[in-house]
Amino acid sequence: MNNYLESLILLRRALHSQPESGWTEFLTTAFIAEKLQEYGFSIFLGEDIVAREFISGTDNEGIEKGILRAQQKGVSSTLLKQMNGVTGCMGVLETHRPGKTIALRFDIDAVDVSELATSEHFPFREGFHSRNPGCMHACGHDGHTAVGLMLAQWLYENKASLTGSFKLIFQPAEEGTRGAKPMAEKGIVDDVDYLLCAHLSFIASSGELVIDPQQFLSTKKLKVIFNGKSAHAGAQPHLGRNALAAACQATMQLLAIPRHGSGISRINIGALHSGQASNVIPDRAEMKLEVRGETDEINDYMFQQVKNIIAGCSLSYQVEYNISTEGQANSLLNDEELIKLLGKVINDVPEITSPVQHRLFGGSEDATVLIKRVQQKGGKGIYFIVGADRTSGHHQSDFDFDEKMMLTMFKVYCQMIMHLSNQQH
Ligand SMILES: [Zn+2]
Repeated sequence: MNNYLESLILLRRALHSQPESGWTEFLTTAFIAEKLQEYGFSIFLGEDIVAREFISGTDNEGIEKGILRAQQKGVSSTLLKQMNGVTGCMGVLETHRPGKTIALRFDIDAVDVSELATSEHFPFREGFHSRNPGCMHACGHDGHTAVGLMLAQWLYENKASLTGSFKLIFQPAEEGTRGAKPMAEKGIVDDVDYLLCAHLSFIASSGELVIDPQQFLSTKKLKVIFNGKSAHAGAQPHLGRNALAAACQATMQLLAIPRHGSGISRINIGALHSGQASNVIPDRAEMKLEVRGETDEINDYMFQQVKNIIAGCSLSYQVEYNISTEGQANSLLNDEELIKLLGKVINDVPEITSPVQHRLFGGSEDATVLIKRVQQKGGKGIYFIVGADRTSGHHQSDFDFDEKMMLTMFKVYCQMIMHLSNQQH
């Protein structure tokens, strides 16, 4: 198992030095695809695994830059053609023995934050810091991807003692909860019996494992465009339609949505851009906001209130509006069978010294979209947290985590797979 840790660290550091943000992970996708092919997996890329019409929160300039970067780093034109502008990869391994279809999901994107470049920061000191300015693996997804690739090797080596088939899903754009929806809509998990997902660190330290984390907030990330009409602010203000005023009015009302009685709700207006000059009635405003709810129902309630307020404010200022969904996640309901199994198998993983049954998560994560899809189709899913000490909070420029815990995560997944694959059918 020590060799596994060495390999995991090498993989993680290679990925860490080449971070890419959501929907621009071309180099990362190629890296993954090549490794999966090495281990006898059939690989699926681009629109084979992602429904393009459900992609949201992209920027074309970023995608072009990402492709160029991948070309410069020597990614083959065949792979880039298969991706066809869409990142993410799925590897499938068939054992050719009847059995369950087991899927594992790993997120592969990085965060738009500049990595600390001082010797106090371990990745910089060791020379595996980000080589992509303004982008950093500051959430541990480099670790997740490394574990996924290590599992590919392990599945390949242990294929003879397993049954059924395996799907390793490397999901783009988890940040902003954008990548899971178009994958779910493509139907790639519709035949899955068991879906396993996890995150490193977050709410747990090295040695801990949170079996059934609670309070995954259902969320929607929204973009609202208000379109008005410009006019001379002194001579003809009555001919203008003030998009900025509508957006500001909406902002105040959005923050005052009555809270839901059944659980937690959240709203944040994160960006508002409008106008150019003091003497021009602004004809356009762009707002970015998010709503969250403890359950999907509460989140839907928040979303409906947002729609009403935007419509009402637009009407009163006589401007047009458009609301688009830029990302989303569901609340989480882990399946009892997998909760029980996880609680059992971690006894065989000595690195887990302090198992935790429940702990509040309090954020959002779009693996829940894939889990919900599996559950709707009759399969089962779980999301758990593998503890790892870290240097600072997720998404901060000095973030780093205890690399040894990748081996713990890997072992837990191996145990889960062995039990699920070899149970009686
Ligand atoms: Zn994350």
